[in-house]
Amino acid sequence: MRVGIVGLLHESNTFHSEPTTRGHFTSDVLVAGDALRERFSGAHHEIGGFLAGCERAGIEAVPIFAARAVPFGPITDDTFEGLWADLADQWNRAGKLDGVLAAAHGAAVSGGQRDADGEWLSRLRALAGPMPIVATLDAHANLSARMVRAVDALIAYRTNPHLDQRERGEEAAAMIARTLRGEVKPVMDGSFPPMVINIERQCTSDPHWRFMHEAVEDFRRREGVLSASLLLGFPYADVREMGASIVVVTDNDARAAREAAATLGRALWRERSSFLGQGLAMEGAIEEAARSPGPVGLLDMGDNIGGGAPGDATLLIEQLRKGSQRAFACICDPIAARRAADAGTGASLELAIGGRSDPSIGSPMVDRFRVVRLDDGRFIEREVRHGGASRFDQGLTALLEDRSGHSIVVTSLRVPPFSLGQLTSCGVDPSRFHALVIKGVHAPIAAYRETCRTFLRVDTPGITSASMDRFVFRRRRAPLFPFEPDAVWNDAAD
Ligand SMILES: [Zn+2]
Repeated sequence: MRVGIVGLLHESNTFHSEPTTRGHFTSDVLVAGDALRERFSGAHHEIGGFLAGCERAGIEAVPIFAARAVPFGPITDDTFEGLWADLADQWNRAGKLDGVLAAAHGAAVSGGQRDADGEWLSRLRALAGPMPIVATLDAHANLSARMVRAVDALIAYRTNPHLDQRERGEEAAAMIARTLRGEVKPVMDGSFPPMVINIERQCTSDPHWRFMHEAVEDFRRREGVLSASLLLGFPYADVREMGASIVVVTDNDARAAREAAATLGRALWRERSSFLGQGLAMEGAIEEAARSPGPVGLLDMGDNIGGGAPGDATLLIEQLRKGSQRAFACICDPIAARRAADAGTGASLELAIGGRSDPSIGSPMVDRFRVVRLDDGRFIEREVRHGGASRFDQGLTALLEDRSGHSIVVTSLRVPPFSLGQLTSCGVDPSRFHALVIKGVHAPIAAYRETCRTFLRVDTPGITSASMDRFVFRRRRAPLFPFEPDAVWNDAAD
């Protein structure tokens, strides 16, 4: 039995003014054939799980094509079509296949395709014909009916931070192996309660999620249920499907899949008011950080790089630098990194750092900084971290210090703060600071909980702001809770 492995992963923030182009994929993941195996076989990523799961099941994994880019604006049409053409080309060279394992994100948008995942999975179905396709999704997918129709089974990460990506890939491989042996026939259905889970409430280990874990687990244990997933949704995509959803896979029982998905959808809907953000304002957060046990991780929700934000906001670090407790921030600014490198290690120079992309998230931080160290920005993460990446490249990187002892790491590439390697590879000991600005919401916790004694989620402005009323949506569903607080869901009637 030969199973093709494909992946096309992107989380597209439609509020970003700049598009994602092929270069963004090239600088993250764009691999085919053996290079795919080499890139992912040891990774804590679902594609690593596909490879390991196929081996365990005694089926041949045929690596075909995988592309991934760091979350950013919508993918250009040329890029999307080019990636698809590459995938199809590699498919045609792969020889006869019996099934497919596909890794999708579920929140990809291209210029012409608001549901880019529904589109490429449908094209994959057209290539594959009737052979089984089992696909994985990020928990932040904005699930569409089209995705559900395109493949035989969808399996989403269960955790946020996403620490079970490899396990979900292994689960998908085991499911396709059982399908190919004729032991099961996956069928599935989805449920789409018209509700948004605020980003701030999406940490799946928080107590308000316990009821849902138990409800989903109860279905997973039932006879004939092959998989059940909760999708948290990605709020920063102005698409019809934006919001939370459920997908359930059963063994050849479409009605049971539909009923299980509906029951879980209703359970989520009933608790909709527990998923509203709290909105800790910046001023309050700075005061609370000062009196909290450190190190304090201040999560800059509006400049969440893993949600597509630029990573050059200065609002929080500028406030912290006014205080006497030592503060740290990592800011993406290739111009400042270059200027620091030109000045050289040990030099002291007047610099403008960050604040270049969006005036609402801060202006450039202008001051005199000492260049403590320069690096190539490459490092390896060996622990299980959100995103499943092991190799990081933040480009030319400078560690700078101001006269008060506050430190800034300036990177040339946008790298989400999923690994403490971002600091330690530059010689920074995070425990030396009272406050660390972290440009994310939940994903960084997997790494930063080793260091931070306190976390504060700060409602900062930006294209990943937790305050959803800062955004103008034109394509979302209506009514949609909490935009329409009195929204009624017809399917909610038991
Ligand atoms: Zn995600």
